[in-house]
Amino acid sequence: MRIRFWGTRGSIPTPGPSTTRYGGNTSCIELRTDDGTLFILDCGTGLRLLGQRLQQEPQPIVGNILLSHTHWDHTQGFAFFEPVFQEGNKFTIFAVSGVDRSLSEVLAGQMDYLYFPLTLDELQTSIIFKEIGEEAFNVGDVQVRTQFLNHTVLTLGFRITVGGATVVYAADHEPFSTNLYRAGVDNPSLDDIIHAGDRRHVEFLAGADLVIHDGQYTNAEYVNKRNWGHSAVEYVLDVAMAANVKQVVLIHHDPGHDDDFLAALEARCQDHVRALGSNLQVALGAEGLEIHLPETADQVPEDLTAQPPSTRYRPARILVADDDPGLVHFIKAVLSKDKYDILAAHNGEEAIKLALQERPDLILLDVMMPKLSGYDVAKQLRETPGFPDIPIIMFTARADEEDIMRSFELGVNDYIGKPAAPALLRSRVRRWLMRPGQETEE
Ligand SMILES: [Zn+2]
Ligand SMILES: [Zn+2]
Repeated sequence: MRIRFWGTRGSIPTPGPSTTRYGGNTSCIELRTDDGTLFILDCGTGLRLLGQRLQQEPQPIVGNILLSHTHWDHTQGFAFFEPVFQEGNKFTIFAVSGVDRSLSEVLAGQMDYLYFPLTLDELQTSIIFKEIGEEAFNVGDVQVRTQFLNHTVLTLGFRITVGGATVVYAADHEPFSTNLYRAGVDNPSLDDIIHAGDRRHVEFLAGADLVIHDGQYTNAEYVNKRNWGHSAVEYVLDVAMAANVKQVVLIHHDPGHDDDFLAALEARCQDHVRALGSNLQVALGAEGLEIHLPETADQVPEDLTAQPPSTRYRPARILVADDDPGLVHFIKAVLSKDKYDILAAHNGEEAIKLALQERPDLILLDVMMPKLSGYDVAKQLRETPGFPDIPIIMFTARADEEDIMRSFELGVNDYIGKPAAPALLRSRVRRWLMRPGQETEE
């Protein structure tokens, strides 16, 4: 397959003389399999130029658009994509549903008459919307697996395999914990990864020939940008090495980073992996960059149609246990935007009582509470015969690696540090309710 970068910038387009080398257009990547199947990863402003190129090719154009999420910098090019104004073309758009709105409503919203002169209904082309969650599916001979990334809105990473070649596209994504590995370990293994979310991320990337990953910041910048939903390059190199990836291309460049800064950063990243004795190839994504991955012709693709489908949006009941009334109020205010029914407990004993009585769909637990701690609550519920295997999330100011690792050992599903940005909290809760096997009761 052949991969071409049409937009590598994050957040907002940054045209101008200081961004000519790496480019100023926002996220858009073209992927062509050897048999010509077209995939478009995200619809940032780079999509406009890809559209012009496609117009010169034999018509009609048939393509698959994989949309990671609905933020502006990943959708803004859609209304300027010429092939959708042409009769006879056919596009399938795969994207996570916008929580409380359908995908077509989200895109139509961007084309409201206040923002744009044409509406979605006026497009000439055939568009099929496919709302997906964390799942796996086939497009012809191509296998696509998806996994939720850690971002401020529901966001999917895509793992695409054809003819034995695998590409992972992971934008936008933030580390789950500040450090990937527990401190003081010389040759860390997967078991030394502190947070289960980061381990899951490494497993999603495992063995890929190419990973295209959000690397908006450096570690020095990231300390002031936590909860914004993006990664520092150092984290990306660590997870790529942990996952035995062959090649990583960093994208979603910060609008404040000009060509000189990015060139220096690229050299620094390459020195860093070399100093560690790794064979990982590292590059910074640039407009026009092309990568060819050989497909070994006769591989029969695995049929993924039997995979369990992801759960779609529906109302759910959430139990919040926290002894701080202000925080309970905050969580209620944030989560009620997604129309959940929220039950509140103010200590550990009350949390267990309410959990057993009310059977919520998800539990958000503080660690330090009177009577019983969050650890005790999680342990008791996991040991209660017949209590459903619902997601339990720790939401706590305690950020020591011991606290995080102990929680996962007790059967907790996720661990979120306080303070958390409201948007990040919403998306973390939502993704647990959408995971296969986390079916909520009607
Ligand atoms: Zn973005
Ligand atoms: Zn984003």
